Amino acid sequence: MSQTHVVILGAGVIGLTIAHVLTEDAGFKVTIVARDMPEDLTSQAFASPWAGADWSPLTSDDRLLSWEKHTFDKFWSMIPMGLARGLPFRIYSEAENVDSLKASQWKGIVRNFRVLPSDYPLPPKAKSGVQFDTYSVNPDVYLPWLKSQLEGRGVSFVRRLVSSLDEASELAGEGGAIINATSLGARSLLGVEDTKVFPIRGQVVLVYAPNVNDCVSLFPEDTPEVTYVIPRASTPGMVLIGGTAQPNNWDTSLSIPTARGILARAKELVPALAEPTTRIQAHNVGLRPGREGGPRVEAQFVELPSEDALVPTLSKAAGKTGKIRSTLVVHAYGFGPAGYQQSWGAAEEAVRLLKENSPK
Ligand code: FAD
Repeated sequence: MSQTHVVILGAGVIGLTIAHVLTEDAGFKVTIVARDMPEDLTSQAFASPWAGADWSPLTSDDRLLSWEKHTFDKFWSMIPMGLARGLPFRIYSEAENVDSLKASQWKGIVRNFRVLPSDYPLPPKAKSGVQFDTYSVNPDVYLPWLKSQLEGRGVSFVRRLVSSLDEASELAGEGGAIINATSLGARSLLGVEDTKVFPIRGQVVLVYAPNVNDCVSLFPEDTPEVTYVIPRASTPGMVLIGGTAQPNNWDTSLSIPTARGILARAKELVPALAEPTTRIQAHNVGLRPGREGGPRVEAQFVELPSEDALVPTLSKAAGKTGKIRSTLVVHAYGFGPAGYQQSWGAAEEAVRLLKENSPK
């Protein structure tokens, strides 16, 4: 059986999950080409190591909610495997009315949803809230697990910085296709150059707090300073607390005042964090790959080699034959704060687009 060679640019949660879905079909030979690999768990050059990564209400878009429903079910099924952890989640709002959380749109995704009764003891500032069951995933465990699964399915990993679609097309070879899962890299990948892509800086604190076993968030009314507490899967006692969401801020250095503010807000929300058993483990800063208008999951045919004078000569070897070919590129980037919670649904859609547009 002849296989189509697919080069996936990017080894974050999106590229890896797409590879997972794609290799369920024997018709594809998959190579993942990326600058940062799943084992680079301290690299600030990509987003995936730094996520919470739980399900939180972040969108009211029906397409994204459908990806999230599929992904929620998938992660829920990983709880018995120890890859995900089931957790009660309380979300408080500073608004009087719980409708401010727009829960009617997402309560069908989560498990055991209920509105907190009026006599529920709320933390300071909160005026209403909901509770349901969610999951969390630990990137330190989940990303290497995805990679080992893919290696078992014959996927090759090549560490390489790719500067253009020309280069990716050469790696894919004649008749091959490209998946572009480069997140913030899509801004400067020649042939894509998507200026709608922007970073959303996220600073968090990782603590050991064995008495904290619930996810908790406070959605403020008029500041972007969401406070959240996420117990980690796979590493008992570890809890991620956040955070910041600072658009267009590329600074990956630690802000000490911000760390103090995060800790103070979190202790107010979850008093168990103030117990003497709590120990700070790490301060993390990551850049969420935002995109104006939301994620781009879309198929495109690109005429390559391009005529762009900026494309490095080495990437234009195919041009020597003078043969222009139309290469299928499926884009999958720009997932902002929700790359994990949309990963399986978005990957299904990317693979469907690849199959629909591949030559029969
Ligand atoms: P990335 O992880 O950024 O991976 C991009 C890949 O492309 C990397 O391998 C990189 O090396 C490669 N690449 C880029 N350019 C090139 C190039 N030119 N050549 C070769 N390779 C290239 N999401 C959730 O769902 N739930 C959460 O609770 C959550 N919490 C978060 C908290 C924080 C603090 C942060 C920072 C993020 C959080 N996120 C969360 C968001 C989530 O981490 C991202 O949406 C997700 O990781 C994006 O995955 P990705 O694969 O698209 O991109």
